[in-house]
Amino acid sequence: MTPIKRVVIAGGGTAGWVTAAALSHQLGQILDITLVESDDIGTIGVGESTVPPIRVFHQLLGIDEQEFMRSVSATFKLGIWFENWGQIGDRYIHPFGRHGKPTWLAEFHHFWLHGLRSGMNSELGEYCVEWLAAKQGRFGTSPQSDINYAYHIDATAYARFLRRFAENRGVKRVEGKIKSVQQHPTTGFVESLTLASDRVVPGDLFIDCTGFRALLIEQTLHTGFEDWSHWLPCDSAAAVQTEITGPPNPYTCAFAHEAGWRWMIPLQHRMGNGFVYCSRYISDDDAKQKLMQAVSGAPVRPPFVLKFQPGRRRKSWNKNVVAIGLSSGFVEPLESTSIHVIMTAATRLMQMFPFDGVSQPLVDQFNEESRVEIEKIRDFIILHYKTTDRDDSAFWRYCRNMEIPAALAHRVEMFKEGAHAYQDAGELFRVDSWTQVLLGQGIVPKHYHPLPRGMQEQELARVLSSLRAGVAQTVAKLPKHQDFINSYCRTT
Ligand code: FAD
Repeated sequence: MTPIKRVVIAGGGTAGWVTAAALSHQLGQILDITLVESDDIGTIGVGESTVPPIRVFHQLLGIDEQEFMRSVSATFKLGIWFENWGQIGDRYIHPFGRHGKPTWLAEFHHFWLHGLRSGMNSELGEYCVEWLAAKQGRFGTSPQSDINYAYHIDATAYARFLRRFAENRGVKRVEGKIKSVQQHPTTGFVESLTLASDRVVPGDLFIDCTGFRALLIEQTLHTGFEDWSHWLPCDSAAAVQTEITGPPNPYTCAFAHEAGWRWMIPLQHRMGNGFVYCSRYISDDDAKQKLMQAVSGAPVRPPFVLKFQPGRRRKSWNKNVVAIGLSSGFVEPLESTSIHVIMTAATRLMQMFPFDGVSQPLVDQFNEESRVEIEKIRDFIILHYKTTDRDDSAFWRYCRNMEIPAALAHRVEMFKEGAHAYQDAGELFRVDSWTQVLLGQGIVPKHYHPLPRGMQEQELARVLSSLRAGVAQTVAKLPKHQDFINSYCRTT
């Protein structure tokens, strides 16, 4: 086994610079890190909504939140607003917070369900600070606060921010287009990249962050791809950035339409908009037109169309190539999970870093953990499409009738029967997320845990009302989202 000292990152989008930042911060003293990127090719230019673990990742890197937010024109995100998913006219928020107070025996929503059956009407979200704050457009944080939040970020500025961070820690950036990849004649391990300028960049370990091109992991190593388009039929997106027309909401919007859904991601200085769709049911031109009809501000650049294939690379790590980012696979951005998967992959790589050489058990473990992680996320996304009552278009009729992975079918049945929701090992989404989305999609459980039946009705009513009051009081003290941004992290 060849000891690993020289790491070459191919690609400088979010994946490339996140990986470079993490490796240089944690292992920069012992590794020699080079990143190659092509200004001519550029980056994908989308990917602006995130999930809360990004904050943990930033803390690991010692990133200052206010500096980061000012640099990337960020706003705060408390969850996702869904509209028209279960049926046209339906609305729900998937917040990042927890609801009420769970017991060790039964989650809080069982008590809430029992309250509903006993005539105590309330929304589950009223027991969650993040839900109510999102609804009221409020946000605030302090070192004592435990509000769970993420960010909306300018993707291009984020790559720039991380580039500065990584270069300050010794990462060497090489600009140029990779024209060929050299492999060892017998092992097939990658030995070097040759650029259009004929410059050769040698390395011991290569990180493929070349986006959908997957230059090393697929075009060179032919690793193979598992296609998931039968479960996630959307394969295209039209995107446009517009001027912002009002105070930014502290949540991402996901409006379902007849052949997919539309996002709105508010930044401090502009709005990111996109129309995700299945090209079997709507043409690119129609999608672009519908997007432009739906947006409110003036475009700051012309709309563009992106094509993608949902699925995963059969191995994220093959020989001495580790794929991170779009090169390793893609699940559509409905729950804003891709940047998160980049961060967990970079972290996993650092934890398993093959200093003494690439060993197969390590590679297998990395691949297995990556598979489990992305399959759980995939199932959570499929849930939004499958559990719909919409039959107003061929797209939705396909979604409601499609076969789904057995593990997801089991989960949906568990919830339908007894309101059981759970978080598996290695899974991003918690019980509260599963519960909010299952209920939000219109599933009404037949039964729930019997524990609350042991409570006197008056006692249950008292507990529920005091929990709601506690949430309302906490939220009432929070400033408006825009006011908090102005005082905390306004981009100048
Ligand atoms: P890219 O940004 O494509 O970067 C590839 C890099 O490789 C570039 O630097 C390019 O120049 C370089 N490169 C390629 N070929 C060569 C070559 N031959 N020579 C030299 N350099 C080369 N994720 C989220 O978390 N939240 C979201 O809200 C979200 N929204 C999305 C919406 C859509 C429609 C899509 C398609 C994706 C979305 N994503 C989202 C995913 C997110 O955009 C990506 O995960 C993220 O941007 C990482 O991309 P990347 O770095 O892997 O690829």
